[in-house]
Amino acid sequence: MTFAFGHLIGAWLAGKLAQRTKRAAMTRIAWALLLGGAILPDADYLVDWTLGTHGHRTLTHSLAFLLAVPIITCFLTAVLKKKYPFFQPKLYAIAIGLGILTHLLIDMAEGFPGVALFWPHETWYYFFGSAIPGGNGIFESNAVHHLKRAIVDMGLGTAWIGYFVLRDRIRF
Ligand SMILES: [Zn+2]
Repeated sequence: MTFAFGHLIGAWLAGKLAQRTKRAAMTRIAWALLLGGAILPDADYLVDWTLGTHGHRTLTHSLAFLLAVPIITCFLTAVLKKKYPFFQPKLYAIAIGLGILTHLLIDMAEGFPGVALFWPHETWYYFFGSAIPGGNGIFESNAVHHLKRAIVDMGLGTAWIGYFVLRDRIRF
């Protein structure tokens, strides 16, 4: 599994690409929504940890979520636009949607078990296959394996931040 930094980097690359094609003038808020959207699906961990459930990679990793969150974002920011005229509801919806999309693609690119794309349908999908992982707690097993991935993720994140420091985008 990819953790926070891997997902942030994936969404950041997508944002850079969108900017390159000059289709999107990424504002500061759009960037925040893009990067926030990239880690939002894994907020289901917090629910699992607090409630002791096993819902990771189900609702928040589904097409329904991918559609619902941008629609809600568009609606909310359209309402808020009355107070903040500079808001760009459509851009924000696309940004948060793109963030969630990159998250799902990265999770699926890792192979089995993938994500429950059509949740509540119980089949999970990944590149290039599908499965019904069934057994709850699939993500709790194999702690050493996860720890290694987490360490790689932290290494990626450190290198990413280092890049910004080198480019003089972050100053301490
Ligand atoms: Zn995920």
